[in-house]
Amino acid sequence: MSFTGSCACGAVTATISAEAPVAVRQCWCRQCQQVAGGGAANNAIFPTDSVAITGELATHAYTAASGNILTHSYCPKCGTPVMAQTSARPHFRTMRLGFLNVGHGLAPNAAIWTSDAPPWAAIDPALEQFEGQPPAPPPPPAS
Ligand SMILES: [Zn+2]
Ligand SMILES: [Zn+2]
Repeated sequence: MSFTGSCACGAVTATISAEAPVAVRQCWCRQCQQVAGGGAANNAIFPTDSVAITGELATHAYTAASGNILTHSYCPKCGTPVMAQTSARPHFRTMRLGFLNVGHGLAPNAAIWTSDAPPWAAIDPALEQFEGQPPAPPPPPAS
């Protein structure tokens, strides 16, 4: 199984060769609400070396509460969020689920930063929930 992705205008595309993401999470932190237009950002985390992107990306970097530098990438033409990465874990790319092409079959299995969620947020009670940052996924096995 591999995954593909495209922004709304088609200028940015990606192929992801990983068999599966290491985690799929729904993040309600304030920055994700800004990026996602009000709701949570839904993210699939893949090993960096499995992600190949074509097209030009625009980026925005800021210092997160953890002190790590978080970099968001998006299409400069249509604004579609593509991915994020943290300076603490350069071996992972956090791909936006909305960027992945239909048919990926992925769904969030955890909701994080729920303490930042707006009062109207409907968070699936079946999801594992974290009020803040969850433990980091284990690093990919050395290949
Ligand atoms: Zn685009
Ligand atoms: Zn977030």
